[in-house]
Amino acid sequence: MSELRPFIAGLPKAELHVHHVGSASPRIVAELAARHPDSQVPTDPEALVDYFVFTDFAHFIDVYLSVVDLVRTPEDVRLLTFEVARDMARQNIRYAELTVTPFSSTRRGIDEKAFMDAIEDARRAAEKELGVVLRWIFDIPGEAGLEAAEETCRLAVDLRPEGLVGFGLGGPEIGVPRPQFKPYFDRARAAGLHSVPHAGETTGPQTVWDALTELGAERIGHGTSSVRDERLLAHLAEHRIPLEVCPTSNIATRAVAAMDEHPLRKMVEAGVLVSVNSDDPPMFGTDLNTEYEVAARLLELDARGVADLAKQAVEASFLDFAGKSRIAAEIDAYTAAWLAR
Ligand SMILES: [Zn+2]
Repeated sequence: MSELRPFIAGLPKAELHVHHVGSASPRIVAELAARHPDSQVPTDPEALVDYFVFTDFAHFIDVYLSVVDLVRTPEDVRLLTFEVARDMARQNIRYAELTVTPFSSTRRGIDEKAFMDAIEDARRAAEKELGVVLRWIFDIPGEAGLEAAEETCRLAVDLRPEGLVGFGLGGPEIGVPRPQFKPYFDRARAAGLHSVPHAGETTGPQTVWDALTELGAERIGHGTSSVRDERLLAHLAEHRIPLEVCPTSNIATRAVAAMDEHPLRKMVEAGVLVSVNSDDPPMFGTDLNTEYEVAARLLELDARGVADLAKQAVEASFLDFAGKSRIAAEIDAYTAAWLAR
C-alpha cells in the first residue's frame, strides 16, 4: 500500500471504463448465484476469488459470461446496478460512465422495457441516495456478432434511456474485426450517442485505427497497443482522443505481460489524454483506488500529479462543461486542503 492511498481514497473521481456485470462484487455474485442454483458459478464468496483467476483472455470471457448468465430478472438488474453504485460511492467516485450490455439480458428473456426501467430506477436512486451520477454506454458484445450489434443499436436508438450517452463494442478482438460494426456506429452516432469502442487491447494498433476511421471513436477502450505505432500516438494526442487505461485488467487478461512493462507512461509521455479505470474490478481483484495507486507508481506521481490524473478522467468524460467544472473544482478543493493539512 502506498502512502498516497489515503489521499486517493478521499479524492473525488470519475470512472469511464467499467462494466456493469463485471463490477459485481463477490457478495453480489454469490447472492445472484444462490438465486439461480442451476448456474456453474460458486455461491461462496471465498471460492469466487479462485474462480476469478484467469489463464488467458478467452478464459476471462468464459467466466465473465457465466456471471452474465446470473442476471436474469429486472430485479437482478436493479440490485446489481444499485450495489455497483454503492461500491463506487465508498471510493468517492462522483461520476461513472458504466458500460452496459443490454443484449445479454434481453436475449435471456428480460423484457427490454423492464430492463431499461431497472437501470434507470437504480440510476436515479444512486444519484439521490449515494451522490453518484451514473451514465450508460451500451456496448455490443463482439463475440455475439452482427445480430447483437443490430439489437444493441435498436435498443440504444429506439428505447434510449435518459442516462444513455455512448455506444460501445466489447468482447474479444481476435476474429472480431471492428469495421463490420460501422453501420451500427453510424446509426448510434446519428442519434447523438458518443462512439467508445474497445480496441487495441489484445490486437495491434491497426484495430485502433479501424476504431477511429470506421467507427468514429471519440475515446478508445484500452488502446494498449497504440504505443507500438508512433504515428497513432501522435494522432491521438493531436486530436485529443483519450485512452481508457485499465492497468490491472491488462495484467489479469495477459494483454500486458507484467506491470513494469505497462505502456501507460509511454502514452502520457506522447501527450495522449488518459483516464485510469478498473474495467471489471472485483473480477480482477481491484478497484479504482487501487488503479490510481498503480498509475501513480508507473508515472511516479505525487498527490498533485494524482489529482491531475483524476482531472484528466473528468476532461475525457461526456459530462457537459458545467458538470466537468463542478468535479474539477471538487478535486482542486480536496487537493488544496490535503496539501495544506
Ligand atoms: Zn472493458
